Amino acid sequence: MSSKKLAVVTGANRGIGYEIARQLAAEAVEVVATSRNRDEGEAAARKLGVRHFPLDVTRPESIESLAEHVRDGVDILVNNAGISMKGFDAHVARATLATNFWGAKNVTDRLLPLIRKGGRIVMVSSGMGELSSLSPALRGRFLDPLLTEGGLAELVESFVRDVESGTHGEKGWPSSAYRVSKVALNALARILARRLASDPRGILVNAVCPGWVRTNMGGPGASRSPEEGARTPVWLALLPSDGPTGGFFRDRRTIDW
Ligand code: NAP
Repeated sequence: MSSKKLAVVTGANRGIGYEIARQLAAEAVEVVATSRNRDEGEAAARKLGVRHFPLDVTRPESIESLAEHVRDGVDILVNNAGISMKGFDAHVARATLATNFWGAKNVTDRLLPLIRKGGRIVMVSSGMGELSSLSPALRGRFLDPLLTEGGLAELVESFVRDVESGTHGEKGWPSSAYRVSKVALNALARILARRLASDPRGILVNAVCPGWVRTNMGGPGASRSPEEGARTPVWLALLPSDGPTGGFFRDRRTIDW
């Protein structure tokens, strides 16, 4: 068995995920670069000299195959895969949540039993996920220290229902599915960190905003290179055992929820 740490990176065929995989491999981590497009993912992994495994985070059977592939254990999970869709309606809300929130949650839930002592979970979130975009009442619900994963799931579902019925504005939600997906991802990181605080494996869970990065999503006018955008996610993936958990970071510094 290899003594190297093993990292799973989602959406590693391009953009920030590709860079995270590259930088982790440069730190002597064994990387499983995953992608939903097999050809693109295999080409990217070949270029990086790392393993590839196909993964569509919205498909349970795909997550199951990945779990089987890494059944011997995982040290680092980077939930990087994400989408930002044009427009705003119930379809966009559902699809965005399916990838950015449920995708990350379902991959994490399935791999969690496989995560070894000293494991690290990184949620690639966004400054767009700051709670300031929500009404004070909703903010209070997301920040409730007693919020459970079940309660969070109910909040996320109620957003989609409110978009469907055209009442999301009066209920205090922003007209952006991307923002809500990242608010929910941040809340998930906090809840998981709390839950894992009593787990003997010492797993640290953090969320990170990579900044505005020149990728397909960020566009060519963004201020940062993918290399810069990947730095803080990689730092969180390699935190020492006395590192933070349940935090939200940009440029290695805590930022507001
Ligand atoms: P990107 O170039 O558009 O890459 C997104 C990655 O996610 C691609 O590999 C994509 O795969 C993958 N993906 C999407 N849906 C998936 C699914 N269902 N299953 C598996 N993989 C899926 O964007 P990026 O800028 O690198 O974004 C990476 C992360 O950073 C995202 O979570 C994003 O929200 C976050 N972020 C980006 C910025 C920015 O300025 N770029 C700012 C803040 C946060 P395909 O190639 O198959 O589409």
